[in-house]
Amino acid sequence: WTEGTQADADNSLTELAALAETAGSQVLEGLIQRRNRPDPATYIGRGKVDDLSAVVLATGADTVICDGELSPSQLRNLEQRTKVKVVDRTALILDIFAQHAKSREGKAQVELAQLEYLLPRLRGWGETLSRQTGGSGRGGGAGGGVGLRGPGETKLETDRRRIRHRIARLRREIKGMTTVRQTKRARRSRNAVPAVAIAGYTNAGKSSLLNRLTGAGVLVENALFATLDPTTRRATASDGRLYTLSDTVGFVRHLPHQIVEAFRSTLEEVADADLVVHVVDGTHPDPEEQVRAVREVLAEVGADRLPELLVVNKVDAADEETLLRLKRLWPEAVLVSAHSGRGLDGLREAVEQRLPRPAVEVRAVLP
Ligand code: GDP
Repeated sequence: WTEGTQADADNSLTELAALAETAGSQVLEGLIQRRNRPDPATYIGRGKVDDLSAVVLATGADTVICDGELSPSQLRNLEQRTKVKVVDRTALILDIFAQHAKSREGKAQVELAQLEYLLPRLRGWGETLSRQTGGSGRGGGAGGGVGLRGPGETKLETDRRRIRHRIARLRREIKGMTTVRQTKRARRSRNAVPAVAIAGYTNAGKSSLLNRLTGAGVLVENALFATLDPTTRRATASDGRLYTLSDTVGFVRHLPHQIVEAFRSTLEEVADADLVVHVVDGTHPDPEEQVRAVREVLAEVGADRLPELLVVNKVDAADEETLLRLKRLWPEAVLVSAHSGRGLDGLREAVEQRLPRPAVEVRAVLP
């Protein structure tokens, strides 16, 4: 289902397919429906569900992925009608984050987000189970009948309590880890080392640029969300001053709010930077939409008041017409290619010019 133009829908679906492939799925077919709003019961319209079921049958698909967040009952109804697993965009993104989390903090943050997503959906799951068991013989009485409701509910309550405990514990753990990071940050500001945060839509080339600018060996993957745990590297300006460059969490449209919440402490680190280098993929069909999505998240964590340097990357692969259009759109942007190295000197200069000047020249020698 989509409310935007056909092009918006196509872009969003192409991205969803890329996300699904990142998660290890093989994408068979896409289905779009234009509607004013989602169907409350089945998300897509009832007639479209029949089309979907037919596609599932014809392709032998074992999963349906919806480009949006489904309510617990929409998910359940769709599963019952299509007879295969149904996943929404939020669950898919959470899954990818889970696969990519490496640090202890990143793992804890993802688990927290997953549990918060799961908690309100537990009821639906329990109901489906009890309805299935109660369905045979007695015409499928709602809720699974008298005999089944008791134990079902008890199990559900235990599950919920266990999850709530785990959520509370994860929150405490994450808070502890945040404190450690804050201490490190405080040390940094005492040392007056300016910090530059590299932000940008996922796959824009943040890791590649970080590598280029600092010679750091950061993992570069042609996959969405390769960057999950922030990496910080030191760089030296041409006048000898030191500054830090950090790669941040990859941003994506409709980033689930559970993720923004769970990663708040990591994202907030961006708000502490002196400069945001906002990397845009010059080859993307809709870079403006990506810029909007990233700025939205930056605003959510209070990083929108920082100076921002827009960088259009991948100019080696973009066509001249697009580049001209982007130049007109963002005259102040720096055009670069992390691959060919074009524009990198200009980028370094632009970054250095925007670093805050200390009142007294500090040539700190960091340990
Ligand atoms: P991140 O998710 O923003 O950190 O993006 P990465 O640095 O991991 O890069 C994502 C993909 O874009 C990788 O396949 C890179 O090889 C590719 N890429 C990065 N920079 C450039 C560039 O300047 N030109 C081209 N053609 N591809 C690039």
